[in-house]
Amino acid sequence: MSYPELSLMIAGERIGLAKETGGQRRSHAVLNPATGGVLGQLPLADADDLDRALAVAEQGFAIWRRSTAQQRAAVLSGAAALLIQRQEEIARNATLEEGKTLAETRIEVLMVAQLFSFYAGETQRIYGRALVRPEGQRSTVTYEPVGPVAAFAPWNFPIANCGRKLGAPVAAGCSVIMKPAEEAPASALAVLQALLDAGLPPQVAQVVFGVPDEVSRHLLASPIIRKLSFTGSTVVGKHLAKLAAENCIRTTMELGGHGPVLVFADADIDHVLNVAVGHKFRNSGQVCVSPTRFIVEESVYDRFRTGFAERAAAIRVGDGLDPDTQMGPMANPRRPEAMEVLIGDAIEHGATLHTGGKRIGNQGFFFEPTVLSDIPLSARIMNEEPFGPVALINSYSDEAAMIAEANRLPYGLAAYAWTSNAARQKRLAAQLEAGMVGINTVAIGAADAPFGGVKWSGHGAEDGPEGLMACLVTKAVHEG
Ligand code: NAD
Repeated sequence: MSYPELSLMIAGERIGLAKETGGQRRSHAVLNPATGGVLGQLPLADADDLDRALAVAEQGFAIWRRSTAQQRAAVLSGAAALLIQRQEEIARNATLEEGKTLAETRIEVLMVAQLFSFYAGETQRIYGRALVRPEGQRSTVTYEPVGPVAAFAPWNFPIANCGRKLGAPVAAGCSVIMKPAEEAPASALAVLQALLDAGLPPQVAQVVFGVPDEVSRHLLASPIIRKLSFTGSTVVGKHLAKLAAENCIRTTMELGGHGPVLVFADADIDHVLNVAVGHKFRNSGQVCVSPTRFIVEESVYDRFRTGFAERAAAIRVGDGLDPDTQMGPMANPRRPEAMEVLIGDAIEHGATLHTGGKRIGNQGFFFEPTVLSDIPLSARIMNEEPFGPVALINSYSDEAAMIAEANRLPYGLAAYAWTSNAARQKRLAAQLEAGMVGINTVAIGAADAPFGGVKWSGHGAEDGPEGLMACLVTKAVHEG
């Protein structure tokens, strides 16, 4: 099956395995999670490549900070249209390298097109302020692009994460060096290519791959970089935030979650099950806003866990390219290993396994949709982000206990609740500690809304006007 040639993309040039000075770059074998087979060899940047990308990013910033809002809007709208034209090819390659179903990767392409279209409008609405001053004096507040951005995107939304990491800096007038996950390079290159084909000067956005810690240390030590945008685990986020602090680099951090889902007896339980089961097993649960801890009112607990397990057991797991597949493999061999450890630990602690709990087959990285209930809070899985196809269901006696459990962990990314009681809806909206709250819905992401968390789930937001503002700095000018 054909898969694109892989490269770094520095100053609009595709940089392959062969070094210009002779010899070969190090490489990473990109795997198809459905088979474990090698799709291609990805060149990894060395220090010289990174230095070149930094010098080009400095030039790119000098060019793009002087661009007009209309120029930036034209590039973003043009790229959105190209992504739609190329949807099938981009989606297919993303499924090959990440594993999720084609239906899901097609949606990712649309998400990026919508975000770029939104930012095409938003970049034309970066307004300043004139302050009231005595006659003859003037004070103004304007917004300027922060400078070259270092952006790190993970593998779980190989297209959408890269759209976020590139879209906001381009809209703000910054330049950007993005290091996507080495597991899903073709998707990242396709998003960048759409921007370049739509007229983005090649110095403005570049893509490098490498040994993650080497790349982040190198870029964040450079005085050229003025902002870090990272999506990934809390542990890596904390490490990068420390590196950024050394150079007073601004940060936007989108980190881990452990999504609580409060289910009250007054909700339409069959409807909740139909929506929540689909959402839980989307991308095999490898989603930072995945619903994870189901906190269920005791009078509907048995019905809920039985109904959840029945629906989970009926999910068709297979190759994401097969149109009958409802859940693909996990993205890399680390994930099924992590699942086995966390689920084994939960069962040792006394949890009840309703369905799943094992790998499927001996080819690729498949894992069964898994449902656990009665899980003691001391089990690791009740405290660490599982990032996999496992639902954790526990029973609670009243609203206060349910809210306390939702807020127990240091994470605060997404929280969900289902109830038909209007007064309770308001209490939940006010009391749940999360950057995004879905009440009677799982649709919590949109191009015009901030996507981000609180507490250990990070700070700052992507998407929405907030994602654009995160790439701008204020300048107050006072004229006496
Ligand atoms: P990981 O924590 O090593 O990596 C997570 C991401 O960070 C990857 O994209 C990786 O390339 C990148 N990364 C790792 N070290 C880095 C460094 N020093 N500098 C820059 N980037 C670095 O582990 P993993 O096995 O890829 O994923 C495991 C965990 O990561 C998951 O359990 C989940 O908690 C988290 N994760 C979160 C998201 C998210 O959307 N928030 C996405 C992917 C992974």
